[in-house]
Amino acid sequence: MLLAARAARQPPYPGVHCMSPHPPFTRRELLKLGVAGGLALAGPASPARAAEQPARRSAAPKPKNIIFMVSDGMSLAVPSLAEPFSELVRGRGTRWYALLQDPDAVVGFFETHALNSLVTDSAAASTAWASGTRVFNGALNVLPDGRELVPLARLVYETGRRVGLVTTTTITHATPAGFAAVQPKRDDEPLIAPQYLDVVDVLLGGGRKFFDPAQRADGRDLAAEYVARGYTPWEHRADLSRAQPPPKVLGLFADRHLPYSIDQQRDATLAQRVPTLAEMTRAALALLGPSERGFLLQVEGGRVDHAAHANDAAAVLWDQLAFDDAIDAALAFAAPRGDTLVVVTSDHGTANPGLSGMGDDYRDSTACFRRVARAKVSYQAALPELRGAARESSVAGVAEVVRRAFGVDLARDEVATLHAALVGDMPDEPSHPQTGVVALLGRLLANHTGIGWIGTAHTQDLVLLTAAGPGADVFAGLLQNTDAFERLTDLLGIRHRNPRMSIQEAEPYLALATPAPPDHRPHWA
Ligand SMILES: [Zn+2]
Repeated sequence: MLLAARAARQPPYPGVHCMSPHPPFTRRELLKLGVAGGLALAGPASPARAAEQPARRSAAPKPKNIIFMVSDGMSLAVPSLAEPFSELVRGRGTRWYALLQDPDAVVGFFETHALNSLVTDSAAASTAWASGTRVFNGALNVLPDGRELVPLARLVYETGRRVGLVTTTTITHATPAGFAAVQPKRDDEPLIAPQYLDVVDVLLGGGRKFFDPAQRADGRDLAAEYVARGYTPWEHRADLSRAQPPPKVLGLFADRHLPYSIDQQRDATLAQRVPTLAEMTRAALALLGPSERGFLLQVEGGRVDHAAHANDAAAVLWDQLAFDDAIDAALAFAAPRGDTLVVVTSDHGTANPGLSGMGDDYRDSTACFRRVARAKVSYQAALPELRGAARESSVAGVAEVVRRAFGVDLARDEVATLHAALVGDMPDEPSHPQTGVVALLGRLLANHTGIGWIGTAHTQDLVLLTAAGPGADVFAGLLQNTDAFERLTDLLGIRHRNPRMSIQEAEPYLALATPAPPDHRPHWA
């Protein structure tokens, strides 16, 4: 894959003049590059066509089943902080740390950039894993010139294996959608919702509104269409414990995203109605496990990213622990069987939290960190009360809400700053990094918890990768996120290869990108 190797070396910043990009490939050069170069000039991909292309063969043992687990927006410090947090609130370490110390587990990193930016979003990142191709941020398996890619789940389904998607976001959100949907814009979730029919057997997560005729602009009753095609609708946590699981399930447990774990575990109604990520993972494995040909299951802890956007340390860590429980569920399934590959990773960093040294000789860091465990709700849940207190009462009222919600006593100047922001016109969610009430709250609480943030957006960092089971060896070391596609398809005996575009080929399309409308809702809202 010479082209891929060369593309990987190119600075992913077209139009920025602080770097001098490699000259574009000539036609002659591309022809010399053979398969991958030829594919870069090819038209829309199809499995039949691609089956003619030779694929890299691996001597690695072949798994029957693959569980691909994503803690979305998990910066490197998140599992590092989750370990002492888990000790603090659960009296034991995390499953991921135990896996990292297992001599049979393989540790690596993904490099994550998109075709148009050093910093990826979840759509481009999931597309990279699922198609082997870099696309512009916001696109799901569609190249800038409109060519469509065939994502992994569709290829896997065509082999007779079964497919599942499990997430704490809407089921049509970028990370699950990247494995199975083809859509130029990730925000078109109503158009993604029908694309899982007869491709994904098990769907568990949020996003009911995109299947509900009363909430869809076109009035289409997608839920009924899924039922007509053999899917059993689940909408309550109790549905997961049915003794005889049906073969196909459309499980939607909220209109939009599932609640943050920190809010769910303290709200009896939510806890009774909405399953945890680990419960959904176990249910999906019970449904897919008996499959004769094997299965592909993606499990996403999607709200780690959302909490990191909000600079909400407690919400990040509680959702990371929920993801850790899902890792435990996956490994409990895989370990006794010996035929299942488990890959655990993230798609990109978000806001890069980190614990700073606090006090003389940093002796206050541990005590500061422990304050994170005092938080009782997410910022999202506390904000209405904070705004109400700011409007109706004094500065002292805001301080009292912060004390009750987050277990922190703000200093007088900190409360005054927060009160002014709340009664002013500062929006909850930032339109620019480092602005907005949530980012301000994050900075103020950082004075007390020691956990700081570099902003409120995604970051360019490498992401941690751990693999266990047959085929895990091919995930060692530093990989491009696009490498996942080749390795997974190779392990599954799938020979399809999608077309790619070089940065130079993509550059003319940058100017055609339409800006988001002013009322655009951020993906973490
Ligand atoms: Zn995000």
